[in-house]
Amino acid sequence: MSTLAVARRALLRLGWSSSAAPSLLLALSAAGLGGCVVSDKSDDSGAVSGGDGADEGAGEDGADGVDGAGEDGADGADGADGSDGSDGTEDTEWGYSGDIGPEYWGELDEEWAACAEGEAQSPIDITGELITTSPEPGPVLGWGPTTLRAYNPGHYIRYEVDSGSTLTWGGNTYELDQFHFHGLSEHTVDGTHFDAEVHFVHVDLASPTRLLVIAAFVIGYDESIPDPIFGADGALRFRDALALPEGETPIDLGGSVDLSEVFTGFPGAYPLGYSGSLTTPPCSEGVQFFISDLSMPMASVDLEAFLDVYDYNYRPVQPLNGRALTVYGVSEPG
Ligand SMILES: [Zn+2]
Repeated sequence: MSTLAVARRALLRLGWSSSAAPSLLLALSAAGLGGCVVSDKSDDSGAVSGGDGADEGAGEDGADGVDGAGEDGADGADGADGSDGSDGTEDTEWGYSGDIGPEYWGELDEEWAACAEGEAQSPIDITGELITTSPEPGPVLGWGPTTLRAYNPGHYIRYEVDSGSTLTWGGNTYELDQFHFHGLSEHTVDGTHFDAEVHFVHVDLASPTRLLVIAAFVIGYDESIPDPIFGADGALRFRDALALPEGETPIDLGGSVDLSEVFTGFPGAYPLGYSGSLTTPPCSEGVQFFISDLSMPMASVDLEAFLDVYDYNYRPVQPLNGRALTVYGVSEPG
């Protein structure tokens, strides 16, 4: 059975997608005709952190080190690059396998203790468990035109955008800072990975240490689909950026792109929200995640090129520890 078929079957069991939010399911159905990239890389690493017993307070304060470095962090945002980011933490080597792999992150640097001890960590496995609904709307996107800069900090390609692409949620305004991809997906659905996952990292304009990440599963299509970054006519295509050597200096990718058009519909009508963490060291908590019910389509040739380079930059799923998952925008019955 293909990855897609497995994922579709998993989604069918979820109230999230089967009743409240059919859009991802429909996308999967459509994709079933076009085929997809099938990844045979099974994830048997499972959850790595312990953390018995839920601490309902965990992940709520958002002040325990979200500032500073970190892949998902806001170190490019004004005001978010606190002193924590320049105290040597950035020099600690980490990775996705071996003795610097995810199960050791909490031991590699004293400032990364949350990776081992945190109880509201990301990513998570999405099952039907603990899913609730809310009539409150999910994030409302106000993404717009931007130029793009990219660099390779070591474990992924980071795409930085101009200021001005915002979203509103819960009365707060967040600004898109950067986006990046993980392969395979970090979040799973009933234990099943998607081929890749994109993270759009936003910073609360009123409180820059608070982050909001919109995540979406990436699904490959055999048919021709515009390049996920620049479209068919981009000066530098997605696949080219994958080859950027490791370095901290962003390069201008040339041209501009209207994010409101490239990522039409995100984050969908019924995003699934929960309070989590950075998925890379320092694993800081207080990061609000929204997992889009819409997948991000990508041409299989692009997806395969990505997976050739980044087929293992995902953190294994972490214990839910009693956290509720909320599907937003669902009207109360009756
Ligand atoms: Zn990420």
